[in-house]
Amino acid sequence: MCAKSNIQTYNFKDKKVLVRVDYNVPLNDEFQIQDTKRIDASLPTLRKILDDGGSIILLSHLGRPQNREYQFSLKHLVPYLKNVMEKVNVYFSPECIGEQARKYAKDFKQGEILLLENVRFYPEEEKGDIDFAKELASYGDVFVHEAFSTAHRNHATTAVLPRLFTNDKMFGFLMQKEIDSLSRIMKNPRRPLTAVLGGSKVSGKIKVINNLMTKVDNILIGGGMSFSFIKAIGGKIGMSLYEEDMLPIAKDVLEKAKELNVNIYSSSDTIAADKFSNDARREIYKSTEIPDDMAGMDIGLETCSLYRDILLKSATILWNGPMGVFEMDNFSNGTFAIADAIVKATEKGAFSLIGGGDTVSAINKFHLGNKYNYVSTAGGAMLEYCEGKELPGIQAIEE
Ligand code: AMP
Repeated sequence: MCAKSNIQTYNFKDKKVLVRVDYNVPLNDEFQIQDTKRIDASLPTLRKILDDGGSIILLSHLGRPQNREYQFSLKHLVPYLKNVMEKVNVYFSPECIGEQARKYAKDFKQGEILLLENVRFYPEEEKGDIDFAKELASYGDVFVHEAFSTAHRNHATTAVLPRLFTNDKMFGFLMQKEIDSLSRIMKNPRRPLTAVLGGSKVSGKIKVINNLMTKVDNILIGGGMSFSFIKAIGGKIGMSLYEEDMLPIAKDVLEKAKELNVNIYSSSDTIAADKFSNDARREIYKSTEIPDDMAGMDIGLETCSLYRDILLKSATILWNGPMGVFEMDNFSNGTFAIADAIVKATEKGAFSLIGGGDTVSAINKFHLGNKYNYVSTAGGAMLEYCEGKELPGIQAIEE
């Protein structure tokens, strides 16, 4: 029988530990790291293993290389890792598998780190190749999954390799926290539970909406996707973004929400513009009465105030997707108002989880990034979790 272990209580003494991390960090033209957050977030797990007396083999992807492209080599990360791990020896193997990698994996010692080259330099990774996984498994005694952002992928190092370990496998601190935070939303949340959903398109989030509807008390919709809902009920949306093929689906969602007793809100007022530009002419309209030559760019003040009231009464909050074109200062007010309301709700004791690349950029733009209970950078994996899917990377550890 298989049982996962717990990183908190596991003793890594004398173990060689394969750690799958997400070091997919942005690099500049000189291959310097532009944002080290992803590496920094894995350090508690690395330190625990080394403090116990173990050694670490790091596995990661970087970018989407077609073949061995120098710009995607993990070698560029070595100076930073050496710097941040201070007195620890950090080695780099230009191969993941094969004779050279095997030799590195055999020779490096307790208390040291070995970083293997980008796993996506091998087509076997994305194919979920069992032999590739078996070779990697032979290098270590324990597997630690610390890459939640890859958990929705059926790749060799994310979902196949962990299955080759029976009991000596576990989530790292970061991945455990991410799963715990998401389960606070999806399993027995404190109520009322409110989901705020925004962004450009309904199509990208329809599965999330359908699944969340069976769990939440309120859904607050904003951003470009709200206009498919407004048009579906006969509103005039002018030049606003919408998806023709989503109209019947949006209508179904509204009907299903009624049956399930879920309050689903769409913006009642909209800030619209005569062109897609920060210096466009701006006017505020009822969201169902936008003139033909104007496009909705942000939620209006009345909507901000209603959404704020609902958020301040919520005990659990999930937010994914901006309320407007927040990248342009003149249309960022609605997204800021929601970001701020969730901060206030969190200060009052609500549990808040923010996720998705654009939403995280927005809260960072407003300097509010550290004011929520959990901020998830794992866009795809988080959305699939919220769709109610079993993620292969989680299953491979838990089964
Ligand atoms: P998504 O990737 O679907 O989460 O969408 C994020 C993008 O939606 C951001 O770049 C926003 O600028 C954009 N967005 C939000 N509201 C609107 C809107 N009303 N019209 C056009 N784009 C929008």
